[in-house]
Amino acid sequence: MVMSDSSAIRLALMTWYRQERRDLPWRRTRDPYAIWVSEVMLQQTQVSAVLPYYERWMTRFPTVHALAEASEEQVLAVWQGLGYYRRAKLLRQGAIYVSEQGFPQNAEEWRRVPGVGPYTAAAIASIAFGVPAAVVDGNVERVFARLAGCGETGEALLRLARTWAEDILDRGNPGDWNQALMDLGATVCTFRKPKCEACPVSEHCIARQSWTVDRYPAASSKPKTVRRTLRVMVPFAEGLFGIRRVAEGGWWEGMWEFPSSFSDSERSGQTEGWQEDLPRFACRVTNHRIEVVPFLIRPSARDASLTWLAEDELRGLPMPSPQRRVLRYAKKALGLVE
Ligand code: SF4
Repeated sequence: MVMSDSSAIRLALMTWYRQERRDLPWRRTRDPYAIWVSEVMLQQTQVSAVLPYYERWMTRFPTVHALAEASEEQVLAVWQGLGYYRRAKLLRQGAIYVSEQGFPQNAEEWRRVPGVGPYTAAAIASIAFGVPAAVVDGNVERVFARLAGCGETGEALLRLARTWAEDILDRGNPGDWNQALMDLGATVCTFRKPKCEACPVSEHCIARQSWTVDRYPAASSKPKTVRRTLRVMVPFAEGLFGIRRVAEGGWWEGMWEFPSSFSDSERSGQTEGWQEDLPRFACRVTNHRIEVVPFLIRPSARDASLTWLAEDELRGLPMPSPQRRVLRYAKKALGLVE
């Protein structure tokens, strides 16, 4: 790609962004905390899904100090349903760091904040502080691969996309430029069915001009789907549910769950007393497809290793989405909901 293309692309994309930019709550502020929260929530999650969580989060934790003072459990309770819970824990750790050290002013300093990687650091520094730092994520890699007709994959594509993003960055207005590029990737140059006819840079796009859009980005080998079975036991005794903390190192560490274990044999192990099968369902976590096999038991005595709580006490606790679904089925089986 020649340099004359860079200035033409910059002009076309910035003009388009000024007309088409999505009106999002985190775009109405320069508060670095609000921008940071939005960037973390938007990792692996669509804008439409993030909006209600963002509003709820900012009401509950309106400042970095409010977040730093919250317990991990309170933070997870507000985050629950958004998935990838590690993001919430790291955000809280980052807030503790920032409330002690003050807000970093550039991308390099942001990268020292726990949980903040190169993409988020560049996004916050450019949007909140006007620092000329280029963002590169999957969206930017894809736009670059198509514009340049670049057939590389993996690390090689990332390296080239970084160089391109640095070269083409609008240094006079890096925050808007980065958001323009993100919007282009998220709404026009989408992974499936890109809207080339509505694209402001189509005349500079090698893939479009050569009718080879479907070749970019080139396919890289994806991790194989791993299938697993998760048995979830819902103990119910004397009107109380038995739950426990998720063990350290688990996907949902720090949250609460009904006793569960991964197993290929569906009914191995204990379960003394009356029991009833609950509806099964499947869910995905990273590259795992998990068949959830839940059942309700009514033990004759309460297991002292569990915490026993009434249904209304479970509401405020952070629980992973599959466990919440199991709770819904258990309540229905017990006649606790209409
Ligand atoms: S023309 Fe199509 S493929 Fe090229 S950048 Fe625009 S949307 Fe993407």
